[in-house]
Amino acid sequence: MFDLPSDGWRTRFAPAPTGYLHLGHVVNAVWVWGLARRFGGTVVLRVEDHDLVRSRGEYAAALREDLDWLGLVADEEAPRQSERGERYSAVLRELGELVYPCTCSRKTIRAAVERLGRPEGDEVWYPGTCRERGIDPATTHARRLRLEREEIRFTDRRLGEQAQTPAEQCGDLLVRDRDGHWSYQFAVVVDDMDQGIDVVIRGEDLLASTGRQIQLAALLGRHEPPRFLHHPLVLRPDGEKLSKSNRDTGIRELRAAGWSAERVLAEAVRLGELPEEVASAAFGKLPER
Ligand code: GLU
Repeated sequence: MFDLPSDGWRTRFAPAPTGYLHLGHVVNAVWVWGLARRFGGTVVLRVEDHDLVRSRGEYAAALREDLDWLGLVADEEAPRQSERGERYSAVLRELGELVYPCTCSRKTIRAAVERLGRPEGDEVWYPGTCRERGIDPATTHARRLRLEREEIRFTDRRLGEQAQTPAEQCGDLLVRDRDGHWSYQFAVVVDDMDQGIDVVIRGEDLLASTGRQIQLAALLGRHEPPRFLHHPLVLRPDGEKLSKSNRDTGIRELRAAGWSAERVLAEAVRLGELPEEVASAAFGKLPER
């Protein structure tokens, strides 16, 4: 099922500590722990606090407590991203000429895209404004990575064959922003490579990021990318993504309202459409609704 290796593979649960755990996280967790327990994988917990402005230590502590309560214990814990600055800097240096300083703001990017008459897509596309400007690197922390036009093909283990062209989706990737913060795309690829992650299990909202992560990994010398599986995303009835502000789905709120850990897991299995065979092998008998 899902064409996973039969044993000895590594995956990760990688929440950003920018809020309390909610059902959307648990959907991801039941997929990660479910497949790892069923098919012999190792789960690495990685606290993705690359966003130093929004991440908080208390959220990181709370998410460990909530995972413990749910009985989801990681086999290993990776260093937090905020501890990995030196490593990211070293990788940036390795990329050499592929990386260039960029002084564009969101506003100037939008204006440049408009001038080019490019129809607005789902995400911001960087038109390469600073590519050849020869900006003095001392003037800004912001760095972008040249992405040549390349079609990236991969097989999603649930959704099948995919083809993405990152140069057209997002353009040159932001590696570090002007405040010196490492970008999600960069940190996640370096971490997955360094931590030997060979199966990435995450929500469909990150499907569009996968091609660029494969392209970046190849530039860093990782030519055999991880396997990817994107699971359904839990939406609110109005179609919005669940988030920390949706108090009704917070694990702490559900717990306070008398839900058992098994009931939370059962709800996540149902919402995330984790196959029954995987859920029962991994979590035993869960309560019916
Ligand atoms: N930290 C990311 C998030 O909270 C997940 C990263 C990933 O799975 O690639 O959405």
